[in-house]
Amino acid sequence: MPPNDLEPITAAGLLVTTWCPARCRHCYVSAGPGRAAWMTVEAAGAHLAALARLGAAAEAIHIGGGEPFGDFDRLLAVVRAARAAGLPGVGYVETNAFWATDADVARRRLAALADAGMMQISISADPYHQEFVPPERVRLLYDAAREVLGPGGVRARRWKWIQAPRDVAAMPEPERLELFRSFLRRYPERMTGRCAEQLSGLVQRTALEGLPADGCRRALLASGHVHIDPEGWVYPGTCAGIVLGRTTAAQPLDRLLEAWRLEDRPLVAALVEGGPRRLAEAAARHGFAADPAGYAGKCHLCWQVRKALAGAGAGGETLQPETLYLTS
Ligand code: SF4
Repeated sequence: MPPNDLEPITAAGLLVTTWCPARCRHCYVSAGPGRAAWMTVEAAGAHLAALARLGAAAEAIHIGGGEPFGDFDRLLAVVRAARAAGLPGVGYVETNAFWATDADVARRRLAALADAGMMQISISADPYHQEFVPPERVRLLYDAAREVLGPGGVRARRWKWIQAPRDVAAMPEPERLELFRSFLRRYPERMTGRCAEQLSGLVQRTALEGLPADGCRRALLASGHVHIDPEGWVYPGTCAGIVLGRTTAAQPLDRLLEAWRLEDRPLVAALVEGGPRRLAEAAARHGFAADPAGYAGKCHLCWQVRKALAGAGAGGETLQPETLYLTS
């Protein structure tokens, strides 16, 4: 372990916005139409330059959100900023295809992004997205992307579903819930954020005492991966809402990471050492009480404990952004 506790960061996602036309039930950053934070192109350029200094490979950098195609000009400028930062481009850009209503527009946009340095487009398609995005847009974008970028230029979350996406919006609610339940069995989701709020009732629950008591060192310190949100908050790996720190013009990502010490972040330290069960003990004095219905896993408990701490004003600079905890 390096002296500052964190494994070197070699991969990153720039979450350029919290805005999204959809409100997918499994979204752990809780993006939606009511959220409107956008990363500036300058800030994105600074993050990309920091990643270049850290030695991250372009393939290991992605642009996501929220929905980055909500402002295509900005997205294009962010992808261009990678080359200005000394990288050959970015690995992939994520989208739910909401904007793909016209094949010519889709081809033009994909070609412009590829020209700017995007290596792949990643299409998010699953039952949760298809509550909001008509499946024909997913098909249109998938076909256009294979045509413009070639088969290697497209990735998908979920491959099987994308071959024949269904119109979930047309299903009655009980049928949707059944579909979500079976999808969760096949592809478990991290139960934090809106995902915890909306889907944890569909999976088996375990009492707090029955959950693993191990720490989260691997997830928090050893993933080699960070996400940076539009306000500069830096999340380790996929634990959205637990921040290592906040980047600023004066403190870009590489400097923040270099100066980072576990001892300065007691909430992160509690999770690293004893996982959410340790954090739950600390949260008891802020009013946290275990849910008698149990939890859909360790990360669900983690989310509930963090929400209690943030709600009690005890989240400090670690449980951020506030809007995540208030709006999920
Ligand atoms: S329990 Fe919390 S800290 Fe541990 S992996 Fe899950 S979300 Fe991350």
